Amino acid sequence: MKEIELITERDQIMSVAARWKKHFYTRHHGSGTYLWGHVFGNKSSEEIYNRLVALDKTTATAEDVDAIIGTTGEVSFFCHICETVKTTYIQFADSEDDHDSIEICCDCIQKAAKIAKGPHD
Ligand SMILES: [Zn+2]
Repeated sequence: MKEIELITERDQIMSVAARWKKHFYTRHHGSGTYLWGHVFGNKSSEEIYNRLVALDKTTATAEDVDAIIGTTGEVSFFCHICETVKTTYIQFADSEDDHDSIEICCDCIQKAAKIAKGPHD
């Protein structure tokens, strides 16, 4: 069963460092040790992580995060239903398997709710 949760832009900023680490600090297939992967321009993924950790996430903006990473989109959300970039969305997440989550923007949820509410036969 999945939990239904509202994810705001602030939530995404608050979780950005942890999500970054999860994505780039991964177990090496051969040795089994954890290593930082990928290098972005002249910054390493570890350096970016350390800067994300140091960021005051209660006041930081999406632009602050983008400036550290060097690309946009880490704290925005692309809705695959309406194919639009949004800042807030609804997440249907399985607490036991975080790969198995579904994200839909609030506008699409409202549209779906309207259809579900009816009238229909
Ligand atoms: Zn949408």
